Amino acid sequence: MATGAAMADRRPPRVRSGLAGMTWPGLPPRPASQALALLYQLEHSQWLAKAELERHQFRQIQLLLRHAFKSVPYYRARHGAWGIDLDQAVTPEILRRHIPILTRPEIQQLGEELLSEEFPKGHGKTGEVLTSGSTGRPIRVVKNELTETFWNALTIRDHLWHRDPNLRLASIRPLPGNRAPYPEGEFFNNWGGMLAQVFANGPSALLNIGTPIADQVEWLQRFDPDYILTYPGNIQAIAIHCERHKIGFPKLKQVHTVSDLLRPEVRKICRDVLNVPVIDVYSSAEVGYIAMQCPDSENLHIQSESVFVEVLKEDGGQCQPGEIGEVVITPLHNLTMPLLRYSIGDFAEVGSCDCGRTLPVLRRIMGRTRSMVKLPGGDEFYASFQDLLTGFDMIRQFQVVRRGPEALEMKLVAVRQLSDAEAGQLTTILQGRFRHPFSVTFSYVDEIPRSAGGKFEDYKDESEAVT
Ligand SMILES: [Zn+2]
Repeated sequence: MATGAAMADRRPPRVRSGLAGMTWPGLPPRPASQALALLYQLEHSQWLAKAELERHQFRQIQLLLRHAFKSVPYYRARHGAWGIDLDQAVTPEILRRHIPILTRPEIQQLGEELLSEEFPKGHGKTGEVLTSGSTGRPIRVVKNELTETFWNALTIRDHLWHRDPNLRLASIRPLPGNRAPYPEGEFFNNWGGMLAQVFANGPSALLNIGTPIADQVEWLQRFDPDYILTYPGNIQAIAIHCERHKIGFPKLKQVHTVSDLLRPEVRKICRDVLNVPVIDVYSSAEVGYIAMQCPDSENLHIQSESVFVEVLKEDGGQCQPGEIGEVVITPLHNLTMPLLRYSIGDFAEVGSCDCGRTLPVLRRIMGRTRSMVKLPGGDEFYASFQDLLTGFDMIRQFQVVRRGPEALEMKLVAVRQLSDAEAGQLTTILQGRFRHPFSVTFSYVDEIPRSAGGKFEDYKDESEAVT
């Protein structure tokens, strides 16, 4: 396929040398050479036979369990009751049968009890991350330098799967304070991070995502990137602006989306208006990379060298391709704070891929931006809006606003207005999705404003005193 062929034509990236008196072959300094040592194996492990991949993964899980039951108070106290025998080889079935799922509220409650009292020195200094997740209640996870090295190696894998690091990369991201403001942003002579220490690479530029969309577009025109990295909602707004003002980016080859849920309409508008594909990634601050888009398709390959991922049906059984279930993750290398079978709060559809890589496949991720909806009768539930717009190609973006106990307004950025029949169909879809016969009105807007954090919200409750 196109992207695979493009990869094969590409020159291999040049390894930088950190050693005086040596320029070729390259030998990078220590943290970078560690990342390179992992990358060498990642190049091979993506093609391993499925059983072999799982065997290696469970050698590491066996070690992780041994460590957790010995040095982590929460697990140590439950080892006997859970009845898992570590003198026998642990398999996915044994793990599922003996280790209960760990939820976000449990992580909040357990606090220090999940921290290891002693872990190998070589895993480096610890640091903590706070993550809010889709429900907005933050959890604290402690990681270390080894988990950081994995993050870096997998970041490079993502680049090598999808990009030529000699080209130009523009990033538009949330940044602390007023860092990288318009009109300048910040410019660098490489892509930064571990990639820049391992491989020779091209220039990059950074802009604060708080910048108004028209200014972002003007900045992008000046930088003229080959790749844009940003949030899905942001590139959607950029593409809507470009469509309206007939602006193109002549050199652009690809949009790379991170952080939020990528909806089908974002892929579509990037293809239609910017003439480029979107490459997505599924990661989280607490567990690192979970899955990355295949170089040859829109599937996401689970990063099995770093995480063990289960997608579970309501009865606890493993989903088969085509089935949607709860995502449960066991990070393999965080011995500082082992999370065994952590339910991250997302749902995903299991898939399969014919690219030859044996890393398991998620066809799509759902529910990372689910919103809590309160019905007039008092019921509450999480609504997901993915695929809401299937068949409504004239709609570029939407937001559903709760106007009162019985009233929804759907704000639309659209190429044209809906016909009466289309409005009727969409009303029926919304009433189904909201599980209540709300009255629905449609309004057409030029722009849907972002929240303070720079994110786009699918659903906003602006009604008062809904009980
Ligand atoms: Zn694939």
